[in-house]
Amino acid sequence: MMPAKQAEELILNLVEPLGAEDVELRSTRDRILATAVTSHLDFPHWDNSAMDGYAVRFEDVKSASAETPAVLEIVEEIPAGYQPQKSVLSGQAARILTGSVMPQGADTIVIQEETKREGGQVLILKSPAEPQAFVRHRGAFYQAGSLLLPAGLALKAPEIAVLAAAQCNQVCVYRRPRVAILSTGSELVTPDRPLQPGQIVDSNQYALAALVEQMGGEAIPLGIVADQPEALKAAIAHAVSISDVVLSSGGVSVGDYDYVDRILAELGAQIHIRAVAVRPGKPLTVATFPNVIYFGLPGNPVSALVTFWRFVQPALRKLSGWPHGWESTFVQAKTRQDLRSDGKRESYLWGQLHLVNGLYEFSLTTGSYSSGNLINLAGTNCLGMISIGQTQITAGDALQVLQT
Ligand code: AMP
Ligand code: MG
Repeated sequence: MMPAKQAEELILNLVEPLGAEDVELRSTRDRILATAVTSHLDFPHWDNSAMDGYAVRFEDVKSASAETPAVLEIVEEIPAGYQPQKSVLSGQAARILTGSVMPQGADTIVIQEETKREGGQVLILKSPAEPQAFVRHRGAFYQAGSLLLPAGLALKAPEIAVLAAAQCNQVCVYRRPRVAILSTGSELVTPDRPLQPGQIVDSNQYALAALVEQMGGEAIPLGIVADQPEALKAAIAHAVSISDVVLSSGGVSVGDYDYVDRILAELGAQIHIRAVAVRPGKPLTVATFPNVIYFGLPGNPVSALVTFWRFVQPALRKLSGWPHGWESTFVQAKTRQDLRSDGKRESYLWGQLHLVNGLYEFSLTTGSYSSGNLINLAGTNCLGMISIGQTQITAGDALQVLQT
């Protein structure tokens, strides 16, 4: 049985970021930039006003006050989107609105609140603090040709706004991992079928597809395969041929009908991991075909999800183009209850993480902690971890928690 940390490192060494593709800006949410972006535009594109007010020459207004206002002739009005037609000469001003282009000759904005309009003239009642006051200069935020967004950046609202402003209608992002999902087990049926004695509904297919999609992958649900070597072999070969990642669940323990490892070997896969020292989730198979990584997850619904969170997620992060931070990251929390383990395997207890006065607290959920009990997984948002060698964590003590 391989220790969890070692298995995670090995898995990360087995995968590389997928290739890139161009997608429309509108479809880039949560995608990762595959190439750095530069723009031929300066930001701002031109000198403009940061406020509603008057564009003036500082020399004209530097000693203005309420008692001795500077009186300037208004030569033009510059609303948004308008290209100024006139230069502001000494003794003149232009009415200007936020974001509008600075006119030639003017170097300073006097905010509206410090002026008084009188017909074609404006009285400046206060001298601006300094020349260039409230002027946003061309290129002050970004200069054309320099790096706008680096490769590896996750695209969320702020980055998408920047790409839109830079007129990047097509964006080069990493491809989404295509993840084929297979459920193995002759006892399994789909949720829409009446249950016969001994049958179990295939819940893993749904849970794994949801997890893959939540991580930005493309889930390819391939349904149920019976525990028949030939059927299984054909299904696995097909899954491998159409995906970057295959997730099968079930059939990887040491039972009489657990064929997955044998079939992987027959299909020419290289098997890297057969079991990991975690509870729940010990029987985890990790194998590779050229350009495909195969995860044979345990069938027990809780084990399948725990091994996904702990071992599949890091691989998906790397495949998806995350530049770093692929590994599982744990937060420290204080447990509200005593926690126990046999100390032989890294143990995961599903529960709730609460933020209390800025500090994390972990609490167990109600119900039985069995790898076959998926019912009390509902409503949980984390896994509390007990390390190998540790048999107890006392209420009030710290533990490491993986957010799910
Ligand atoms: P296995 O790993 O194939 O021995 O399966 C372990 C347990 O998990 C058995 O009780 C299976 O019925 C159950 N199981 C296997 N696959 C699934 C699945 N896709 N959905 C729900 N339960 C499953
Ligand atoms: Mg089975």
